Amino acid sequence: MPSFEHSPSNIPSMGLCSICAQTIKNESANAECSLCSGLFGNLETLSCMAIGKAEGYEWSTFSIGCIIPKKILVAQEALWLERGLENSRSIKNAINGAAREYILSKTAKKYSSRASDVLFLLDFERNSVSAQISPIFVFSHYKKYARDISQSIWHCKKCAGNGRLGGRGDEKICICEKCNGKGVMYESVEGIIGAPIRRAFEGEETAFHASGREDIDAVMRGSGRPFAIEVKNPRKRKADMHALQKEINRDVRIRVPSLSTVSQHFVKVVCSSHFEKEYEAEVSLEREIAKSDFKKILSLSGKTIWQQTPTRVLHRRADLQRKRKIISISAKGKGKKLTLRIRAQAGTYIKELVSSDSGRTKPSISGILGCKAIVEKLDVVKIHDEFLRRVSKK
Ligand SMILES: [Zn+2]
Ligand SMILES: [Zn+2]
Repeated sequence: MPSFEHSPSNIPSMGLCSICAQTIKNESANAECSLCSGLFGNLETLSCMAIGKAEGYEWSTFSIGCIIPKKILVAQEALWLERGLENSRSIKNAINGAAREYILSKTAKKYSSRASDVLFLLDFERNSVSAQISPIFVFSHYKKYARDISQSIWHCKKCAGNGRLGGRGDEKICICEKCNGKGVMYESVEGIIGAPIRRAFEGEETAFHASGREDIDAVMRGSGRPFAIEVKNPRKRKADMHALQKEINRDVRIRVPSLSTVSQHFVKVVCSSHFEKEYEAEVSLEREIAKSDFKKILSLSGKTIWQQTPTRVLHRRADLQRKRKIISISAKGKGKKLTLRIRAQAGTYIKELVSSDSGRTKPSISGILGCKAIVEKLDVVKIHDEFLRRVSKK
């Protein structure tokens, strides 16, 4: 128990600035500050500098972060201990409060601790500031009708996406032959959809987020695949979404329905969701199909299959065995041609379900028919993301 002599009210007042005084009970503000040595007197200057950093960017809400020299935090804690103060206001809290009030008084903006347009970072250690502009996320579903468009941008390795080579020292600059100066190996959904969105929001760059991916040579039909484009450092926070949709859809290989902006949290839900998918596969067989074969194929409905990582992706994925469920399967065809309609658990490798990939997928169409079977054309016809559509409507 603290003795009478050490109780807080008996300690002489020590001279603290208006911010530090808030963290020590019963202290009144003083020009001289024995805790921060006047460092927090910079608060208004730093706040003004921070607002200046956001010039040229649209923002209507802000949040604040601060960096405080460790020795001040240590000195404050020592003072708390010495005076037996508990649950006092922290320095960070006092600074954030003062900066918030100051910025509110200087601008007509709103404070929002979460999901703000800009985060002002006041660094009292280095006497510097930054304004971190929050990204914009544009959400929709894409359909893809071409078999030579990758999902994300695939930079050319030879020129690192520059489209040019050389230029160092005496080296002559020349067009990269590998990518024909384009900097990318394939056109991509990310490029076709992302470029107009980046321009509309006047952002620096984009990132592509989607719920899974289809092979480059697979068509994406039905109601499309859910995705979001992240626009980094956008100067604008609003755009004519209808005009944007029209602009994207000018490319006949891609279709997007209406676009909307969503939260980062929603994008996390999009990317972490595992939806069942339906496929249509055109398959060619080594021999003619027999009537009894259809029954064998249908027997895979509701079955669990085992898939070892396909040999075609082994160079970039770990060699693992996965258990996947075939929800339903139906087949039609004649001669050596077969059309399959398959509904399967997320992450099922359909080409390997058909070919068996030298026995790495079991059971498989090839295995149960006892002959070679190869997917010639693969379409994703439906992604069962009803859950996402319900959430996005809210
Ligand atoms: Zn102070
Ligand atoms: Zn290149």
